Amino acid sequence: MSLTNQHSVSKMICSVLGHRYKVQKHITQHIKEYKCECCGKEVAVNTNGNIVPLTDELKQIHKSVETLVQRRTSNKQKNLRMPA
Ligand SMILES: [Zn+2]
Repeated sequence: MSLTNQHSVSKMICSVLGHRYKVQKHITQHIKEYKCECCGKEVAVNTNGNIVPLTDELKQIHKSVETLVQRRTSNKQKNLRMPA
């Protein structure tokens, strides 16, 4: 069986049993990226709690959000260390 066939079998299993999503990336408390362990399908849960397909565009947005959050977190830590 070729890899392509295996992949389509996995897809078939997923369409019957449902995907087995595992958190791949934790962007914020509400935004996460998931990948199916079975067929490799990538999705994301947006701020509304909806599951949306993980497109390249969305990945780019997530990367920007992640950078913003990291910057804000490090600023917060800096502020905490400074006496008010
Ligand atoms: Zn799947």
